[in-house]
Amino acid sequence: MTAKIIDGNAVAQRMRAEIAQAVADMKAKHGIVPGLATVLIGDNPASHSYVRMKRKACAEAGIESFPHELPGNASQEEVEALVRRLNEDPRVHGILVQLPLPRHLDEERILSLISLTKDVDGFHPVNIGRLAMKGREPLFIPCTPHGAIVLLEEAGAQFEGANAVVLGRSNIVGLPAAMLLIHRNATVTVCHSRTRDLPAVCRQADILIAAVGRPEMVRADWVKPGAYVIDVGSNKVDDPASEKGYRWVGDVAFDEVKEVAGAITPSPGGVGPMTITMLLKNTLRGAELAISGAV
Ligand code: NDP
Repeated sequence: MTAKIIDGNAVAQRMRAEIAQAVADMKAKHGIVPGLATVLIGDNPASHSYVRMKRKACAEAGIESFPHELPGNASQEEVEALVRRLNEDPRVHGILVQLPLPRHLDEERILSLISLTKDVDGFHPVNIGRLAMKGREPLFIPCTPHGAIVLLEEAGAQFEGANAVVLGRSNIVGLPAAMLLIHRNATVTVCHSRTRDLPAVCRQADILIAAVGRPEMVRADWVKPGAYVIDVGSNKVDDPASEKGYRWVGDVAFDEVKEVAGAITPSPGGVGPMTITMLLKNTLRGAELAISGAV
């Protein structure tokens, strides 16, 4: 069996067109343009590149972006003052503090300062807490795991009663992905570096989400025939044969796993484009909350 390939680019493109239309409608009806403030601290090249991509996607959707850059030695007080200012700025409906932060900064304190109604990354402890609880609704859901779930829904995965395995327990991907699956009535196992016999655990999965940051770790014999496999991983590996000398691969050995799985995302081209799409959607939601007076 060859798996259905879940095309993250196609889903993202369709959703971004819908978001752009909603942004245009909001402007016409309310005179309000959704705005995303990006806070970038230090000179981590990957962070700069992510923020550039996010700002470009905002521009394409008609969302205004307000870039803020601070030097790598910015003090805790400076960062907090900036977040407080953005909380008060009515043009800003979403605040994104690009992680990771330089080590001297207190990440939890900074993320806790972001107004709940502008927390478009969904990392505020209250939003995460609501996500973790039964019957509570977070205002925003973290973008990458939410994008992974949307791709599963698009592919027609049945969550109710399914065995779902999440590889990885990070705050930004693995844990929230597990919570989202539990809310959809899957039976969820969360694996990490101390899990015993990972292949055997993975083979139980009707739905497998891999977010470990280990190039092509998930092999064909780890996967139950017909399973839905979502590869969140994005790993740069040396490749002397390619022009650049490297290439990007996921956490799943795509070529072999696609022969066993029922549906699979490629990486790149799967979850990656969805992450930014969910950020745009969350920023639009931030503006809707402002219009509805929730702010
Ligand atoms: P982290 O490094 O924060 O977490 C990795 C998790 O995987 C940890 O829970 C760790 O276990 C577990 N793990 C690591 N090695 C093993 C192993 N050999 N066996 C079992 N478990 C293991 O990574 P992130 O969650 O931030 O990212 C995961 C991947 O997703 C990366 O490739 C990253 O680049 C990608 N990513 C992609 C995004 C996108 O937009 N497409 C966005 C964010 C991330 P333990 O907790 O025990 O240490």
